[in-house]
Amino acid sequence: MSAACCRTAPPETLYAGFCRTLATGVLWLVLAAAAVAAPPVAQLGPGVQELDLLPHLSVLEDPGQELQLRDLLKPEAARRFVPLGGRTASFGYSRSAWWLRGSVTNTGDQPRDLVLRQSYVLLDYFDLYLVDQGRVLQRWTTGDTLPYSTRPIPHRDYLFPLTIAPGQSLDIYLRARSEGPVNVTLALYAPEALVPGLGAEQLAMGALFGSFVLLAMCTALLYGFVRDEAFAYYLCYVLCYGGYMAVFNGIAQQHLWPETPSLWGVGQVVLLMLALHFLLLFSRSLLRAKGRSRWLDRAFGALQVAIFTLMLASPFVSYGSLVKPITVIVAITVFMVVAIGISGLRARQAAAGYFLLAWSVFLGGVLLYLVKSVGLLPHTWLTQYGFQIGTIFEFVLLSVALGIRVKEIRQQSRTDSLTGLANRSRYDELVEHAFAQAASAGTTLGLLVIDVDHFKHVNDTHGHAVGDRVLEGVAESLRRQLPPQAVASRYGGEEFVVLVPRTDGPALMTLAEQLRRAVAASSPAIPVTASIGVASTEDHAFADPRGLFRAADEALYAAKRTGRDRVVGWNDDLPRHPATPVAVAP
Ligand code: GH3
Ligand code: MG
Ligand code: MG
Repeated sequence: MSAACCRTAPPETLYAGFCRTLATGVLWLVLAAAAVAAPPVAQLGPGVQELDLLPHLSVLEDPGQELQLRDLLKPEAARRFVPLGGRTASFGYSRSAWWLRGSVTNTGDQPRDLVLRQSYVLLDYFDLYLVDQGRVLQRWTTGDTLPYSTRPIPHRDYLFPLTIAPGQSLDIYLRARSEGPVNVTLALYAPEALVPGLGAEQLAMGALFGSFVLLAMCTALLYGFVRDEAFAYYLCYVLCYGGYMAVFNGIAQQHLWPETPSLWGVGQVVLLMLALHFLLLFSRSLLRAKGRSRWLDRAFGALQVAIFTLMLASPFVSYGSLVKPITVIVAITVFMVVAIGISGLRARQAAAGYFLLAWSVFLGGVLLYLVKSVGLLPHTWLTQYGFQIGTIFEFVLLSVALGIRVKEIRQQSRTDSLTGLANRSRYDELVEHAFAQAASAGTTLGLLVIDVDHFKHVNDTHGHAVGDRVLEGVAESLRRQLPPQAVASRYGGEEFVVLVPRTDGPALMTLAEQLRRAVAASSPAIPVTASIGVASTEDHAFADPRGLFRAADEALYAAKRTGRDRVVGWNDDLPRHPATPVAVAP
């Protein structure tokens, strides 16, 4: 024993000793607190087939991206990790590197072959380390910016095979970086538990992309029939958006360009921008918004310029620098599409309701995903796939909106654009149907052929525009006088036909007379009259609708011949053809 040790300690040394004891106590307290806070080691019992590692992870942010694994393997480094504590590993947009660490122990008595899964597809770059008592057993470096061959198992998300001996404890370290949002999921699976799940996921992906392909094919066919630009825009939107979703879900990476990751990021931006471009064109065309509001038109043009600028910049600028402008453009496009929908609703566009509903459902899904991306909601099946689920509903509802458009187009093709009455081709359909129905039911079908008298004179005197207004007035007066079972059509020029089912001869003549008077009163400023020929299946067993029309037309000519502004009913004595020339207009 040395003399020094027996010497009484001077007062300052006592003080130093006290401080050292205090510091050691505090350190122990801190370590004890850290030990309490450290997440529990994941226990892999013999029956465990699936183990979510998130509750067992701690996290360390490395803003300078300078830490190496060896720095973190030092005992004091453990204190720098903060337990996730039930939170998800969603860190939003960040330039930091994020380290996650957790431990798993095989508490069974058999070695376990397992698969470690990281299922966030768009993580740019990550290193995964398996460490046993400070010794690195395995390291993988992979991610969305590296070729597919860096993945030990070629799959759209990340699967890593590993084996744990009985009683062995493995430390798992993951270092993640991304120019997009940083999310990490980590779970261990026994292969027999993983494979059925993967099968179900692939089926869901197949259903999603199968519906895109089918939708695109149906829309292309419909466009072939209808030739309406809304369908062409919708087709391009479906294709570009489907392509974007294929990158978003890792399908394009796996099946299209597995070894060219540089294409993934650019492809993602280009496809998204093209999808926005066609979406805007589609919305405007479907809801006929062009020219409805000057404000909307200008914003529309400016947005298209911004979309193309971003798209052209994407091969030359890093994704990280584009993320903010892309987010802004997506948000403005969403706002714009909703504004177009509301303007359509206000203009009473029939498709607008479904259009807005489709968007609400889709936006609900996107919102879930975005809130998850910035770390406010957990990375769950619903938040990650809410986007896709919303998309499917959106496309179904947009197809309904397009169906309404088809109905409108069909309606338009049967309607006379000037008067709004049924047009000639619609009349042809109507008369065939009414004739056959009257024949089978043994009821009558009457037909009135109405021709405005000396109408050429109206045009010659007042011009065609005024002539048009007069024709509109005539059509309106006919419409107002019609009994419910009758249908008026514009046969052509200044000639109208009225089909009147189930009406006997005298009632038919009375109706014709009412219509003649109505036409005479239809345009007080420019008085016009009409001649009306009447025929009915009650008078004669006509062989077909053309026979009935010919008879009413002969009666009309008789009305013209005998002075106009009158009603003439067909009878067998009338000349079969307009033999006598009709008087020329004064
Ligand atoms: P009539 O009493 O013998 O029937 O004499 P009309 O002048 O009415 O008959 P005509 O067949 O000689 O002339 C019909 C005119 O109707 C000629 C054409 O310019 C005019 N017309 C046809 N369709 C339209 C239209 O959509 N708008 C206008 N403004 N005029 C039309
Ligand atoms: Mg005429
Ligand atoms: Mg005529």
